[in-house]
Amino acid sequence: MREFTDAELEAYLDEALSPNDMAEVEQALRDQSSLTERVARTIARRDAGVHSLGEVWRRHRVSCPTRDQLGSYLLKALDSDAQAYVDFHIETVGCRFCRANLEDLRQRQEDSSESVKRKRRYFESSAGYLKKE
Ligand SMILES: [Zn+2]
Repeated sequence: MREFTDAELEAYLDEALSPNDMAEVEQALRDQSSLTERVARTIARRDAGVHSLGEVWRRHRVSCPTRDQLGSYLLKALDSDAQAYVDFHIETVGCRFCRANLEDLRQRQEDSSESVKRKRRYFESSAGYLKKE
């Protein structure tokens, strides 16, 4: 029987799990009274106003930065507040969506700086060739 983490149970309460995981928690809730107790405690704690980081994030809809912002973040072109926010979002919250997005952008930036270098080399070599003529 699978063990669920507190974060998973909280995500379950927020309906933020994948449909498969939602179904798994529901099934487990039917079978394990200990899990029902944990969920009850989680609800009680939430109602008392103690929230985990992930929960705060979802509740307050601390939204994902746009792709443009992620691009500027990579170039360190955001102001320091925005830079810190994206840092928090990526590193602390660990948003998987933004991490994937960022990885893709990083790849593209590497590709394009490679092609700039290639063009420059090509230009320099043909400029040298022209001078000789
Ligand atoms: Zn995100």
